[in-house]
Amino acid sequence: MTYKNFTVETDADGIALVTWDMPDKSMNVFTVEVMDEIEKIVDAVVADAAIKGVVFTSGKSSFSGGADLSMIRGMFSMVEEERAKDPANAVKKLFDGAGRMSWLWRKIETCGKPWVSAINGTCMGGAFELSLACHGRVASNAKSVKLALPEVKVGIFPGAGGTQRVPRLANTQDALQMMTTGQTLTPQRAKAMNLVHQVVEPDQLIPAAKQMIKDGLKPVAPWDEKGFKAPGGGIWTPASAQLWPAAPAILRRETSGNYPAALAILKCVYEGLQVPFDTGLRIEQRYFTEIVQTTEAFSMIRSLFISMQELNKGARRPAGQPKSEIRKVGVVGAGFMGASIAYVTAAAGIPVVLIDRDQEAADKGLGVSQKLVSDAIGKGKLTKEDGEKLVSLITPTPDYAALADADLVIEAVFEDRDVKKAVIEKVEAVLPEGAIFASNTSTLPITGLAKNSKRPVDFIGIHFFSPVEKMMLTEVILGKETGDKALAVALDYVAAIRKTPIVVNDTRGFFVNRCVLRYMAESYDMLIEGVPPVMIENAAKFAGMPVGPLSLNDEVAIDLSYKILKATVADLGEKAVDARHMELVARMVEKEERFGRKNGKGFYDYPAKPAKKSLWPGLKDFYPQKKAEEVDVKVLQERFLATIALEAARTAEEGIVTDPREADVGSILGFGFAPYTGGALSYIDGMGVKTFVALCEKLAKDYGPHFKPTPLLKEMAEKGETFYGRFDPYGQAKQAA
Ligand code: NAD
Repeated sequence: MTYKNFTVETDADGIALVTWDMPDKSMNVFTVEVMDEIEKIVDAVVADAAIKGVVFTSGKSSFSGGADLSMIRGMFSMVEEERAKDPANAVKKLFDGAGRMSWLWRKIETCGKPWVSAINGTCMGGAFELSLACHGRVASNAKSVKLALPEVKVGIFPGAGGTQRVPRLANTQDALQMMTTGQTLTPQRAKAMNLVHQVVEPDQLIPAAKQMIKDGLKPVAPWDEKGFKAPGGGIWTPASAQLWPAAPAILRRETSGNYPAALAILKCVYEGLQVPFDTGLRIEQRYFTEIVQTTEAFSMIRSLFISMQELNKGARRPAGQPKSEIRKVGVVGAGFMGASIAYVTAAAGIPVVLIDRDQEAADKGLGVSQKLVSDAIGKGKLTKEDGEKLVSLITPTPDYAALADADLVIEAVFEDRDVKKAVIEKVEAVLPEGAIFASNTSTLPITGLAKNSKRPVDFIGIHFFSPVEKMMLTEVILGKETGDKALAVALDYVAAIRKTPIVVNDTRGFFVNRCVLRYMAESYDMLIEGVPPVMIENAAKFAGMPVGPLSLNDEVAIDLSYKILKATVADLGEKAVDARHMELVARMVEKEERFGRKNGKGFYDYPAKPAKKSLWPGLKDFYPQKKAEEVDVKVLQERFLATIALEAARTAEEGIVTDPREADVGSILGFGFAPYTGGALSYIDGMGVKTFVALCEKLAKDYGPHFKPTPLLKEMAEKGETFYGRFDPYGQAKQAA
């Protein structure tokens, strides 16, 4: 029999080597077709007496990335359609759909012949669960091999047997930790956890897997043997009596109860370990059906899985532009940002000319890459050879003539219009025709900067976030005259350095900083009201923000906030900022000399390590303090999320953000907007625009007019619209095509 996605070769020992290699994909993923073919393979193996066992592997450099997005999207639309017709049947269909993979893997496990999974590369989600259902697992020790059940990161959980097999193989604590965080395992760690049997050299993978079968591997899972006991003895043991009461508390500490899928993992494991294996699978299937219907799962899958992949694959790339060849990049300004931009560019294999005012300053910029490389080598993340190659790609120089053959130049000089003007002119004097100029400015509108350029069509903003080597987002900003080629080159460059782009129109603060400033401003309001600082920080974390607003302000630097406030007043007038905010920040900077983490004194104190930072006690003396019981923490949480979401809605209304996917992904990757909501606009869609408008009206009454819902929101509430409906990204794409 032949298959589209698999080849099956049976050797003289009767071992069938099943190689998964999807012809039209760079990575193997589960589709309905793939599952149908696996089922046929299982049936064929069982029916063929000559086959003694199966080695299952991948023909690609990775093993598999797990489920395909189109399958997940198909599941959601199927439920939506079905719900309209027959709600009860929709749930039944969902239940059956949720169990398809699970029972297919169980069929492999109970087919009567031994299966060994030979894991040659990244093995994620359903693919790891398939491997766990095989009787043997061998992993290659290549650096590229990573194993994980990362479902919780997109609002669901390992629902194809993962929650039942992992705690029957590994100890419960490790199993819970791994699944509730979506942690990635090296093959060595997976072996230590008892999740793979052998770790071998890459060229020994298939021979070792076959040998397991030749050595008489039993085609029976441990839990199908009589007398099986889970590691640690299951639930009713002294060790479990210590673990289980603490587990929900630890989870609550880590997630503030915002992630229903993480809690479902605990339930599946706790309940599943007390029943026979098949019943455990059924319990898992029921919880999965429940979780997949939550707003959190829907929104997280949409933003963190589907939209993110679409944006990474160039969803906003203008049609008809050929793929750009970026052979050389110039970075002007080898300071804090420029040095790191050079590093991420060289890490993508692109030669970089790194320019600063003199050789010494340019060399200092190169030093940043040298340090990052030596740290990576020290941690075993980079070989010495690759590290040396990376550094050799960066040429530090004060000589602009070196830009004569650059395809793209990114400036990261001081945030000063005159300095930038001079740099634009100097670069354009040597830059070849058709090359693109990008500014990394964080506050200066691109259209204004482009006025200094002789070719504003080729002028664009590429806004990085610090630390550049860690932050996954870049904001691409279109000036009024920016052309399609500039956008295509910017997006191709962002793809080359493996970051996620969002494309926004020009405005003060662009998208991300506009939202972030709202977050910090709300914390200033709370301080002024006398809310104890610790409650402000904790409320933000309970709302799902990874970093409290005061802590974030310390990282960004309070003197920078002061500068931004002053610049806003200079450009837009006194009324553009809240005078009380100005007073607070001015006092912090001028009187208290508290600039943030950078001088060890901000809203927090930063004692020498290993001591931890703590809120500065002096802050409490700024305003009369409320008692804890006078503060409603739930309302504080709502205020943080609502003020950011409102700002995101304003950017949509103003046409700054044109695609809701970008507001959502940008808000999560840019400043960690409560990921369980799916992002700032999904937060609104998730509760319904009408409910959001009512919330904003209530907050406006109690906390000020900045919460007033905008005309667009009111109109959408009236019409019962959503952001994804009104600004339908797929409709837009269809129109553009
Ligand atoms: P920085 O002061 O660390 O670096 C600026 C560098 O530019 C210095 O090395 C300086 O010597 C060099 N420079 C100044 N004038 C020059 C000239 N005429 N020719 C060549 N080099 C010159 O500043 P930074 O924090 O890296 O910020 C740079 C830009 O990036 C600014 O526009 C800033 O708004 C933007 N930005 C900063 C951040 C951040 O977190 N710091 C984030 C995003 C964007």
